[in-house]
Amino acid sequence: MGRTRNWNGGATFSYPRGGSQGAPAAKQCPFYKKIPGTTFVVDAFRYGTIPGCTAYFLSHFHYDHYQGLSKHFRHAIYSSKVTCNLVKKKIRVADRYLHPLPLNTPCDVEGVQVTLLEANHCPGAVMFLFQLPDGKNLLHTGDFRADTSMECYPALTGCKVHTLYLDTTYCNPAYSFPAQMEVIDFAVGVAVEAVQHNPKTLIVCGSYTIGKERVFFAIAEALGCKVCATRDKKNTLDCLDSDQVKRLVTLNGRETRLHVLPMKDLKFNSLKSYLEGYRPQYDSVLAFEPTGWTHNNSVSTVANIRPKRHGNITVYGIPYSEHSSYTEMKRFVQFLQPAKILPTVNNGSPKSRHAMEQIFQQWDSEGKQQSLASWVK
Ligand SMILES: [Zn+2]
Repeated sequence: MGRTRNWNGGATFSYPRGGSQGAPAAKQCPFYKKIPGTTFVVDAFRYGTIPGCTAYFLSHFHYDHYQGLSKHFRHAIYSSKVTCNLVKKKIRVADRYLHPLPLNTPCDVEGVQVTLLEANHCPGAVMFLFQLPDGKNLLHTGDFRADTSMECYPALTGCKVHTLYLDTTYCNPAYSFPAQMEVIDFAVGVAVEAVQHNPKTLIVCGSYTIGKERVFFAIAEALGCKVCATRDKKNTLDCLDSDQVKRLVTLNGRETRLHVLPMKDLKFNSLKSYLEGYRPQYDSVLAFEPTGWTHNNSVSTVANIRPKRHGNITVYGIPYSEHSSYTEMKRFVQFLQPAKILPTVNNGSPKSRHAMEQIFQQWDSEGKQQSLASWVK
């Protein structure tokens, strides 16, 4: 870090300094959102029109990534089909600015080969592999949960990545949580048992705009029931072009015992009054609140998950993360062996950047020792 590299004038190749005094500087697109050697940016809508930028890539439809995007946006946006559907429906950006790209298919964008790869985050979330005419490969993970299946992505096989723009949300060994399938199996098991024990159980799953759908769809499939969603949530789910959505989602709360509610409605009092609206059909609530890693919910195995109970309302916080755990991130980086890593999350303070830099160096030397050991064998 620290050296200066200009990109269409003005941009420097160093992280902005925090805590400076005086008038606030105009929001300038930081270097880690720009793809050097191109005129592309990733997830950089909050900086308005960026001078010299010709293509705005959007990794997925979470607010902190599309913030600043409005129906008045007048530049080319590249993303997955699902994310383009969401941008069109929820933000009303005009069709002519939206360029949906297929997955796993190298596409030419202004002379740069761009391949979208499934990011295992929320629906529509992708990683971008940029392959430049000079032979440099840059991979931007967007938000992702690394998975061993990514090691079999044809686009990454034998691909020498120069710069990895890495989702470093949980880049610390303290961040350990169970695999998604383990958490889903746990929730399904609890739900099935609750319904067997009391057929008048109403099941509620908390949800944000998009993400964590796998939890409630798995419960629906296991119980053989539909999923009731609010009108707003259904509009969002309709953008996913998914057979499961068409088959399972309903607006009629009387039609199914499984309801999806906004996360903010999972407080005991809210659930209590929600249940009142469904008596006498149901007389108790079992709720699941999928969270990422939290201090209150720092379990590395599902065996340690404990519910909170209040009368006939039971709430399970479940550690369902859509970001990589530390060990998953480490394995992905050691598989990819990038020449350089740029953290895209928690990169605001010199202290946390330094800590991550140390971790990356450790992974690198460990990885080299391992490959040397396997070479010697
Ligand atoms: Zn996200």
